[in-house]
Amino acid sequence: MKTPCTAPPGVATLEDLVERDKNHDCGGFGLHGVCVKVEAVADLPTRFGNFKLVAFWNNRDGKDHLAMVHGDITGSEDLPTRLHSECLTGDVMGSLRCDCRDQLETALRKLGSLERGLLLYLRQEGRGIGLINKIRAYALQDRGLDTVEANLALGFRDDERDYSIAAHMLTSLNIGSIRLMTNNPDKIRQLEQHGIKISGRIPHVMPPNEYNRFYLETKAVRSGHMIDFHGKRRLEEQNEPTIVEGMVLG
Ligand SMILES: [Zn+2]
Ligand SMILES: [Zn+2]
Repeated sequence: MKTPCTAPPGVATLEDLVERDKNHDCGGFGLHGVCVKVEAVADLPTRFGNFKLVAFWNNRDGKDHLAMVHGDITGSEDLPTRLHSECLTGDVMGSLRCDCRDQLETALRKLGSLERGLLLYLRQEGRGIGLINKIRAYALQDRGLDTVEANLALGFRDDERDYSIAAHMLTSLNIGSIRLMTNNPDKIRQLEQHGIKISGRIPHVMPPNEYNRFYLETKAVRSGHMIDFHGKRRLEEQNEPTIVEGMVLG
């Protein structure tokens, strides 16, 4: 396992990482040799607390992946960390076809309330198939296919995501070890395969509200797949089963 981005001594703050990474070029992470660089860092006060926003360049997908940092995380161990995959329709538009916005807000609220925390906002829309294809898949679902069938009909695997970018981002941020907020042990394994030290798991439990009461009412978790209002299989866009406080898993 390569560890190409070990923190050089003297890198004290997040802002220093921009200078450190100016000429960074490594063999990369994962099958595709993904390499990322910290490009810009700025304060980001939010409704969930004060964060710093770290913008990354990468050599792979032309997208600007982001880290939201709360507190002093440089060199930290056991850092509470959440990986969120972009979902424009959910995160921004408030779509109820998924629960991504609830997942994102719950994570930010939790991380913002702790002394230190980190959220990686990964621009892998629609389980990695991109926005246009996600909307194509929605259209197929409107015509009766479930999410798995829709993705396969479009020529994609049911999950096209790759966590090598996330692994490199964590390494670039000089994180010693993380406690991952997730309900999916497979996410932990994927990150560990890229050399990330995971010291624990924090279950990602959402408070019940008028939007996710559906989950409580249906208690519909079956082999990791949600069953939607029409009885069709629905994949979790954040790649993990939704757990709502008070929910009975069945
Ligand atoms: Zn690199
Ligand atoms: Zn979503």
